[in-house]
Amino acid sequence: MARGKTGIEWTDKTWNPTTGCTKVSAGCKNCYAEEITKRFKNTFPEGFAFTIHPQRLEQPKSWRTPSRIFVNSMSDLFHEQMPLSYLKQIFEVMEACPHHVFQVLTKRGDRLAEVAHLLPWPDNVWMGVSVETQKYTSRIDALRQVPAKVRFLSCEPLLGPLTLDLTGIHWVITGGESGRRHRPIEEEWVRNIRDQCQAGGVAFFHKQWGGATPKKNGRLLDGRVWDEMPALLASLEDEVVELSAD
Ligand code: SF4
Repeated sequence: MARGKTGIEWTDKTWNPTTGCTKVSAGCKNCYAEEITKRFKNTFPEGFAFTIHPQRLEQPKSWRTPSRIFVNSMSDLFHEQMPLSYLKQIFEVMEACPHHVFQVLTKRGDRLAEVAHLLPWPDNVWMGVSVETQKYTSRIDALRQVPAKVRFLSCEPLLGPLTLDLTGIHWVITGGESGRRHRPIEEEWVRNIRDQCQAGGVAFFHKQWGGATPKKNGRLLDGRVWDEMPALLASLEDEVVELSAD
C-alpha cells in the first residue's frame, strides 16, 4: 500500500466529504482542524461550520493506488448535523472501493451507536472512537456495538491515565498533544496502556509524544517504536495485491 502522504503515521491519505465541526469534549480544546481552517481561510470560506461537500463524495473511486484513507480529518462523520442520507452515501462509496482501507474516527459515540445498524460495514471500513480521558470511555461501549471488522481507539491527545475494557477492540493508538498550547502527556500513562494492550492481545501503536511540533519529542517508548497494526491488515493487503493484479 502507498505510504506517507499525510504526515499522520497510521494512514496514507485523507478524504473530507464534510468539513467543520463543534467541540464536544476535552480533546477538542486545541482542535487541529479548527486551527487549519482559521489559517487557510481561502480554502475554507465556510469557516469551521459543519459543511457537506457532495463534489468530493466520489473521490476515493478515482484513487487507483490502494491506500489507507482517514475519513474526515477536518470534521466528525457522526456530527449531529450530518444528514443520515449523506452518511449512507459515504458508506456506499467506501463499500464500492474494496481496494482501500477506510479509517473512521469519531468523538460522537452516542450517534454512532444510534445509526450503526442503518449502515453497511464492509471489511475495509475500520471504526474508531477517541478516548482522551477516563471520562469518555463510554464511547468504547458504543463502539463495541458496531459490527466493523476492525474497532480501534485513538487515545490522542492523551490527557490522563486510562483503565480500558478492551473486549472487542483490535487496535489502540496513543499520542500526545502538539502545538503552541499543547497539554503534557506522561510516559507512565502510555506505558500502562501498552501493558493493557499486551495483556489483552490488542495491537498497540504509539504515534508520538507531542510537544511544540508533532515530531519534536519523537515516538520511542522504552527504547523502541511501537507501530503494531491490527492483524487483519496483513490479510487485507494480500487481497489488495490480488485485486491490483487484475
Ligand atoms: S470532534 Fe474532532 S474535529 Fe470536531 S471539534 Fe473535536 S477535535 Fe475538532
